[in-house]
Amino acid sequence: MARFIFVAGGVMSGIGKGVAVASISRILKSKGFKVTAVKIDPYINVDAGTMNPIEHGEIFVTDDGDECDQDIGNYERFLDENMSRANYITTGRVYQAVINRERNLEYGGRCVEVVPDIPNEVISRIQKAAKKTQADFVLIEIGGTVGEYQNLLFLEAARMLKLQKPKEILFVLVTYLPVPEMIGEMKTKPTQTAVRLLNEAGIQPDIILGRARVPLDEPRKRKISTFCNVLPADVISAPDIESIYEIPVNFEKENLGNRILKKFGLKAKKQNLKDWEKLVKTIKTAKKPVKIGVVGKYFETGRFTLMDSYISVIEAIKHASWFFKRKPEIHWLAAESYERNPQKLKELKKYDGIIVPGGFGNRGVEGKIKAIGFCRKNKIPYLGLCLGMQLAVIEFARNVCGLKKANSVEFASSCQYPVIDVLPEQKALLREKQYGGTMRLGAYQCQIKPKTASFRAYLPSEALAKEGGSLIVSERHRHRYELNNEFREVLETEGMVMAGINPEKDLVEIIEVPRHPFFVASQFHPEFKSRPLRPHPLFKAFIRASISEAWR
Ligand code: GLN
Repeated sequence: MARFIFVAGGVMSGIGKGVAVASISRILKSKGFKVTAVKIDPYINVDAGTMNPIEHGEIFVTDDGDECDQDIGNYERFLDENMSRANYITTGRVYQAVINRERNLEYGGRCVEVVPDIPNEVISRIQKAAKKTQADFVLIEIGGTVGEYQNLLFLEAARMLKLQKPKEILFVLVTYLPVPEMIGEMKTKPTQTAVRLLNEAGIQPDIILGRARVPLDEPRKRKISTFCNVLPADVISAPDIESIYEIPVNFEKENLGNRILKKFGLKAKKQNLKDWEKLVKTIKTAKKPVKIGVVGKYFETGRFTLMDSYISVIEAIKHASWFFKRKPEIHWLAAESYERNPQKLKELKKYDGIIVPGGFGNRGVEGKIKAIGFCRKNKIPYLGLCLGMQLAVIEFARNVCGLKKANSVEFASSCQYPVIDVLPEQKALLREKQYGGTMRLGAYQCQIKPKTASFRAYLPSEALAKEGGSLIVSERHRHRYELNNEFREVLETEGMVMAGINPEKDLVEIIEVPRHPFFVASQFHPEFKSRPLRPHPLFKAFIRASISEAWR
């Protein structure tokens, strides 16, 4: 029987609700339960795929090709389980399903109404996720903040489900306690207001997670308890910490896991957070840095630097660095600055390794190509991710194969040498303006060529099968353009190695430049499959090369 834990947010957004959900999930898993997590996003978009990463943050991709919120990535990283389309709900998705059903006459001629038909659709989706994963616990993160219009129907769904299954539902409120400088004291009033707003929706929280700059003290816990109607032991302190991976350990110090189980009348089947605690220790004690430069464009917004757009890349770098007991130092390098001032490329020598991550559209592309060329010539370890692979091919075609006008049709639709082109089926979709959810998405197989850096990286992990001495792995994709097979021969003749091929369609998935400390670029996104306790093989190999003294 599945139990459902709804997690809502109070006071303001951006206080780490997703990570809190992921952390609770990890704790319950460590106690011997099967756990899954569902994210509900209030926007009308059917999925996150059509949103600008600067505005929304990274678009995470699941094995089954769902373009979803970055929180799904957090769930995967903390739980070390693959999520799927069932784990992601949006208002758009809910309404689309209800309207389609109405069109198919599935409501038997009755009037279809916002309440209860929309909350019922939400409930049925949550239950489907529970069934699909056979989970003992389903955590449901309600996007947005209590008190706003947008998520009201999701709170309504939670309230209705509680009415149906009173013993199987728990409510958690993640709230923020400010410590205004001029007052110098932690204030609980916004939290009290948030609880009132939740009460207005017919919901009483069972547990309150108090996010704050510093830990909550006893007087604050007592005050929240009195005014918000929860036991002091159910007011959990969640202060700012250095690494998000510390949160499950911190929650456990407050006995959160057992408090939750007790409310359901359950007991831990085992207790095993050891490997996680070990990871936290490494994170805290790793001193020697590994300096990685990320050449991108989705991080400058006004006066702020936003790293959310590349969260999986950042986490993957961290996982691999910690594996080698190094302290990851990630530097943001604006691609366009190399276009304005090529002299600036020299700064790349300061880093142990360079990454060009995924991206869309023209802006910054030429700067990235220059940076990649600099890494190739100066033997700086390079890892290209999706766009980072396509641009590595363009750079090689232009500067090694002499195809000066090589480009991708994404940037120059009728260029002389379209080394990166669009597949015919994609061309048709673009003509019909069918953009949403139509890229090459999700898991595809990739056959790795023996005696390549990639082969050495993957073996023995992640091998799904070993056929005739070669290796087949499965990786996640999100792209429309491909290496144009017509140029494969000229690229190979000049030394580029096609290290990974999708066997089904004969598409190039990984390229390498040999006689280089590490120059590997993939059409897929390895970062989506990196986990804190199981770093991705390509990131591991990249960091290994970056910290190696051999090439310096
Ligand atoms: N814009 C490129 C494409 O669509 C690369 C996409 C990406 O980096 N995710 O193929």
